[in-house]
Amino acid sequence: MSVAEQIEKFKISLPEDVCLVAVSKTHPPELIMQAYAAGQRVFGENKVQELCDKYEALPKDIEWHMIGHLQSNKVKYIAPFVQLIHGVDSFKLLQEINKRAAQNDRIIDCLLQFHIATEESKFGFDLAEAQAMLSGEAFEALKHIRIRGVMGMATFTDNSEQVKEEFRSLKKIQKALSNGFFEGNNHFDICSMGMSGDYLLAIEEGSNMIRVGSAIFGHR
Ligand SMILES: *Cc1c(COP(=O)(O)O)cnc(C)c1O
Repeated sequence: MSVAEQIEKFKISLPEDVCLVAVSKTHPPELIMQAYAAGQRVFGENKVQELCDKYEALPKDIEWHMIGHLQSNKVKYIAPFVQLIHGVDSFKLLQEINKRAAQNDRIIDCLLQFHIATEESKFGFDLAEAQAMLSGEAFEALKHIRIRGVMGMATFTDNSEQVKEEFRSLKKIQKALSNGFFEGNNHFDICSMGMSGDYLLAIEEGSNMIRVGSAIFGHR
């Protein structure tokens, strides 16, 4: 199936409240334009340099999401245009995003990344760390970021029960934070979970934003 056909397929089959982030990392602008021509406007990249290059080269009505691990010293490059940063995993990073957003006279939307997988290497908060951060006065002072929700990655495994359990745990975290810190705030509404191999399970468990690369663009 072509890229355009894949986009069409997702458009038809996804529930209306689920946002598709087309993960275009490593793929050339021409392939992204095939998805664009099929109506896709939200794209995700995981490297700052590549994200900036593609932002420069491609139509300006694309909504660019930074989905990968983000180093503080690189925030300044994406701050002028990034629409959503999925992988916020420390207060230090949030402070830097706030600072650079202020310099660009923007408010940047962010997701808190949680560690839900059993794998050691994945980045992210645990619930207690996030609660401690959100309770702090230092957090209160950040006026140029807006926390829109949570993001997580399940363990890479064929065990779908385990994957579902991990997604469920992220959904519980979102609920706990929503009740504890974002009561009555209808901007805290994004749960970014699910990739090519597990997005159906993620949607079953309450995802409303899936990040899909290889199922659209083929193997990297
Ligand atoms: C690469 C990547 C994806 C997409 O992975 P696929 O398996 O190709 O769909 C999703 N989320 C993050 C954070 C990624 O780095």
